[in-house]
Amino acid sequence: QSIHKDLEEKIARFHQREDAILYASCFDANAGIFEALLTPEDAVLSDELNHASIIDGIRLCKANKYRYKHMDMQDLEAKLKEAQKHRLRLVATDGAFSMDGDIAPLREICQLAQKYDALVFIDECHATGFLGPNGRGTDELLGVMDKVTIINSTLGKALGGAAGGYTTGPKPLIDLLRQRSRPYLFSNSLPPAVVGCASKALDLIMESNAIAQSMAAKTQRFRSKMTAAGFTISGKDHPICPVMLGDARLASVMAEDMLNRGIYVIGFSYPVVPKGKARIRVQISAVHSDEDIDRCVEAFTEVGRKHGALP
Ligand code: PLP
Repeated sequence: QSIHKDLEEKIARFHQREDAILYASCFDANAGIFEALLTPEDAVLSDELNHASIIDGIRLCKANKYRYKHMDMQDLEAKLKEAQKHRLRLVATDGAFSMDGDIAPLREICQLAQKYDALVFIDECHATGFLGPNGRGTDELLGVMDKVTIINSTLGKALGGAAGGYTTGPKPLIDLLRQRSRPYLFSNSLPPAVVGCASKALDLIMESNAIAQSMAAKTQRFRSKMTAAGFTISGKDHPICPVMLGDARLASVMAEDMLNRGIYVIGFSYPVVPKGKARIRVQISAVHSDEDIDRCVEAFTEVGRKHGALP
């Protein structure tokens, strides 16, 4: 419908790209892109900790596959050298990694891509709408909006919370996806109510950068206060703040105690994260007030002392 076309146009404008295509989810966008774009003559180089949907999308394509160590630029460079024999090279990475709250070194990735004639693809599910001065995402945060070729992202997280995904990038790529991408061709389009919701969310972010700026300030408040209280927070500058505890049982009982205090945080342990790296993942939201954040830090401090995570 025309509302779908309008939303695609708005998404492209938001990301300052030529065109965009909607999917029912970002899982579908990731499942549909690699097979449509890459042939057995090409190569894809993927961060080892990329999201499952990128891994599955890559599995579906017949390109030569290289997996580089997580955010390891030496390893990426070695793999890019090896991949010079192929026709086309695509580096694929999450913009922000959701388990650790760490941000891909996109400046360095784009430099390497330029040096070794590769395209860059980023999955911005954990960045769109709040990272960067205007909430455009990791590419804006790191000043490489003109160097990243393809962005896949979701409408189901910061942009409304319901469902939907998209690819945005060069027009010839989007034209190709409309003809060849299987989850686009062989599945229903987004329900109109979801389109309306996402469109309004984009309006709010594009009208003013107040939401994006407040997210950055709240994230900083939580991270610095928790660090001062003696906790270790993984990642950097990201509103996903994993409170690292190590022990699975400790993470589970502390999360339960936080819930009893009215604070909804989730404990993660093996096999979702590596053994010995259990954590409680806290997600800062634009609707949290400074008082909410302070109350959360106080509750963590109390619960941490009670269970021996803090002295
Ligand atoms: N990519 C990443 C990095 C994600 O975290 C997720 C969702 O968890 C997806 C893709 C899939 O997004 P969607 O829920 O829109 O299918």
